[in-house]
Amino acid sequence: MRLVIKFAGALLERPTEALYKSRSQQVAELATQGHQVFVVHGGGRTFTRTLARLGIESRFVEGLRVTDPETRDVALMVLGGLLNKQLAAAISAFEQPAVGIAGGDAACFLAEPLSHPAGLGFVGELRAVNVEFIESLWAAGLVPVAACLGLGADGQVYNINADQMAAACAGYLRADKLIYLTDVPGVLDGDEVIESVECGEIDDLVKTNKVSGGMVLKLDACRRALAAGVSDVQIVGGENTSSLLAAASGECRGTRVGTGTRVGRG
Ligand code: ADP
Ligand code: MG
Repeated sequence: MRLVIKFAGALLERPTEALYKSRSQQVAELATQGHQVFVVHGGGRTFTRTLARLGIESRFVEGLRVTDPETRDVALMVLGGLLNKQLAAAISAFEQPAVGIAGGDAACFLAEPLSHPAGLGFVGELRAVNVEFIESLWAAGLVPVAACLGLGADGQVYNINADQMAAACAGYLRADKLIYLTDVPGVLDGDEVIESVECGEIDDLVKTNKVSGGMVLKLDACRRALAAGVSDVQIVGGENTSSLLAAASGECRGTRVGTGTRVGRG
């Protein structure tokens, strides 16, 4: 099975903790079992903290980070460097070699600038994946770990929202499953996890403020993955020890997002 797993930002924050190690071990286990596993990560909070240390302010428009040239360079250092190499090392520690890749490595992830009226700078959308290269990594027994960065036709590196990156990669790689590990147990309605969300009701969930912040982008990304032909898309809790392996085996412990047109809830 071909599996795309997006690591939660909250997990990436704590690379020395048991939680980070056990999720990395589970990724290693899935690959060792013979699945073609592809990991995607962002790392917004570590990124924001590093920018602050450098005296660079973070600014967001509709959840997307305004990325000037300086901010972009720090994205490459933090996302493509620190967080990417840490995660590849954590998976590799469980006798399953993983390799960190980003943007223009082997022309792997090609991006186009995202057109937005606010002018977001170096924010991009994924437009192509070097699928042959990724397949060669799988054939060599490696787990590719991708930072959410793409290379533009202008030779510049673009920052891509990690949820959108995961969805687009799942589409290009024709993944069987896309699993979002996040810092909540799934899409919540109050305290309750919503077992399934249909594409047709996402706009309504946003309009009625049932869903906000990072979850809006995530659900939009899920919708895009489904439209690209990925048939199993789940949002599950990264803190829950069994959620990842359960999701991989087809049992959803969080929220499954479907292609249905149901509008509104109950
Ligand atoms: P990730 O690192 O997984 O992308 P985000 O912080 O971007 O995490 O998105 C998850 C966050 O979305 C949750 O921590 C929560 O604050 C927010 N959120 C807003 N509305 C909801 C909702 N209805 N259900 C779950 N999370 C929600
Ligand atoms: Mg997010």
